[in-house]
Amino acid sequence: MAFPVLVSACLVGFHCRFDGRDRTSRGVLRALAETQWIPVCPEVNAGMKTPRLPLSFFGGSGSEVLRGEARIIREDGKDMTRPLIESSRILLDFVEKWGVKTAILKDKSPSCGVRQVYFGEKLGRGIGVFTALLKDYDVRVLHEDEVGRLREGNDI
Ligand code: SF4
Repeated sequence: MAFPVLVSACLVGFHCRFDGRDRTSRGVLRALAETQWIPVCPEVNAGMKTPRLPLSFFGGSGSEVLRGEARIIREDGKDMTRPLIESSRILLDFVEKWGVKTAILKDKSPSCGVRQVYFGEKLGRGIGVFTALLKDYDVRVLHEDEVGRLREGNDI
């Protein structure tokens, strides 16, 4: 049985980043070539416009946000924690309905970060809130540099 892979939409050509641009990765597109995949953008899914003001973490990153110990704040000071958690939970439907086992997400994003995220203007070790939720559901989350591992131990 083949399970589809979730992928950050900006990695596969969608202009959904906060700055209105994409971050298309040829490596990711090559890795997904013979696989079913589902593009997702937790921020657009939360109703945010493109382009939009950037977001960053205060008090911790994605895992702490899910535990209620940290917040995601927009550059103008608006607290966007709740819409991003709700959007990420809605996207979990794909995991449950389609049996998703693996996601490839864009690093340094407050939603999709895999290794690093922004705390105010400073980049530090942490993960996005969508990433944290996927990990809680035992979805394997890969950085775009790790797409060579896509087929390791996975029925895709
Ligand atoms: S990193 Fe995630 S939230 Fe940001 S634009 Fe890409 S898909 Fe959307």
